[in-house]
Amino acid sequence: MTIIDAPATTTLSHWIDGRPVEGASGRTAPVYDPALGQVTKRVPLASAEEVDAAVASAKAAFPEWSGQSITKRLAVLFNFRELLNARKAELAEILTSEHGKVLSDAAGEIQRGLEVVEFALSFPHVTKGEFSQNVSTGIDVYSVREPLGVVGIISPFNFPAMVPMWFFPIALATGNTVVLKPSEKDPSAANWIAGLLAEAGLPAGAFTVVHGDKVAVDGLLAHPDVRSISFVGSTPIARYIYATAAANGKRVQALGGAKNHMLVLPDADLDLAADAAVNAGFGSAGERCMAISALVVVDTVADALVAKIAERIATLRTGDGRRNCDMGPLVTREHRDKVASYIDVALADGATVVTDGREVNPDGDANGFWLGPTLIDKVPTTSAVYRDEIFGPVLSVVRVHSYEEGVALINASPYGNGTAIFTNDGGAARRFQQEVTVGMIGINVPIPVPVAYYSFGGWKDSLFGDAKAYGENGFRFFTNEKAITSRWLDPSHGGINLGFPTN
Ligand code: NAD
Repeated sequence: MTIIDAPATTTLSHWIDGRPVEGASGRTAPVYDPALGQVTKRVPLASAEEVDAAVASAKAAFPEWSGQSITKRLAVLFNFRELLNARKAELAEILTSEHGKVLSDAAGEIQRGLEVVEFALSFPHVTKGEFSQNVSTGIDVYSVREPLGVVGIISPFNFPAMVPMWFFPIALATGNTVVLKPSEKDPSAANWIAGLLAEAGLPAGAFTVVHGDKVAVDGLLAHPDVRSISFVGSTPIARYIYATAAANGKRVQALGGAKNHMLVLPDADLDLAADAAVNAGFGSAGERCMAISALVVVDTVADALVAKIAERIATLRTGDGRRNCDMGPLVTREHRDKVASYIDVALADGATVVTDGREVNPDGDANGFWLGPTLIDKVPTTSAVYRDEIFGPVLSVVRVHSYEEGVALINASPYGNGTAIFTNDGGAARRFQQEVTVGMIGINVPIPVPVAYYSFGGWKDSLFGDAKAYGENGFRFFTNEKAITSRWLDPSHGGINLGFPTN
């Protein structure tokens, strides 16, 4: 198959000082429509100097934005919420045209981002300080929360709207200014959001988009005026971001990759479990950090469950996300080929390929990056198919003899993002919740992404740093606390005392 460069390829701009700014580095990367297999745009890849310009613009905007009253900041965010809600269909189309996910899934992504915008609107309450009167005679102590300054966000390709929205609504609400470096694979959503924020009344520079690759990321990590880094992406890059940003004295939260297990006990409702496995395994073509990729099944029910899943897979329609399909293409041809290569690895490692996604007949252009849902049974835990984060529509079944063996497997994984248990035994579910070393747990729920007023984040190699995304963690991450000890003079003076102050 050939990669076709569309004749009228446009080159995107950065968004600096409240307007589009053309890239000046001379470097660009192709942006594909994955369902067509065509390059439809090019994205500029910023130089370190362009990153400097973006940060300078955000820095210049900080005094005005952070100095605005709570009421004014609230109004801008509220406007943004209203505009996004009214125009989310436009954004969904952008997501589908660059990521490939089906339109309904793109709409779901935006909805989950909107929930964080709505949660961010609670900032006047959530960021209220504390006050203790008369901690010592005539002395009061109180705390206030202040914005950090310019904050950097570096986001992955798989949620080009939602992941930035995990961070920037809370960052902006609390008075920070933002530099976003979106994924170069699907960069247009960031520009669209920047335009909408401007329309909502955000001052120029308060939200800046700089496109690019490692050069732009390294520019942000090293920049002395960037106070914090919020990163989401694969584990090796998250590890690098965490180490580098921390070494440069920045506050950092770096969310990494995942290998999410779903444990099915013999007493589970197998139809519910089969539906859940299919939805969580193949939604967004498995390109979700909360996708279920390892189904751990107690062997007495494994044959029955695998049969039910295979039946459901046979009904799925893979194709262009703008058509009436269940699952779209993968994001690039390179990624599609890498994911598909695991099917041969599975065969070589002695697993049973129940459904081979390479045989898919897509409802879409022949040049699209297609791979159908793939179900692999009896995957050995030594196989790379089990160990690697494949990040595609490949669901592996691992058979175990007991609950204990299943939990031991999950806890042995280096990742700890999400997991789920399917059972009708409340005691087993409760024990699972206590014993499993994973950050987000579903009980008969396959993709347990917490709502906006909790926080999102995993354990172990799925999160570096101590702050999860959004929820209270988000407010803490994007603010610095000041504790003030205050005494207003009264006629009685204490005199000289060099001892350590006690109450
Ligand atoms: P990625 O790590 O390749 O890229 C993420 C970001 O890092 C992008 O902006 C990219 O431009 C930048 N980047 C890439 N290589 C870099 C390098 N060498 N140096 C500096 N920056 C670099 O991830 P991706 O493929 O875009 O996204 C998929 C990954 O993200 C999966 O591993 C998935 O699990 C993970 N993810 C995790 C979460 C979570 O919440 N834990 C959420 C979504 C995605």
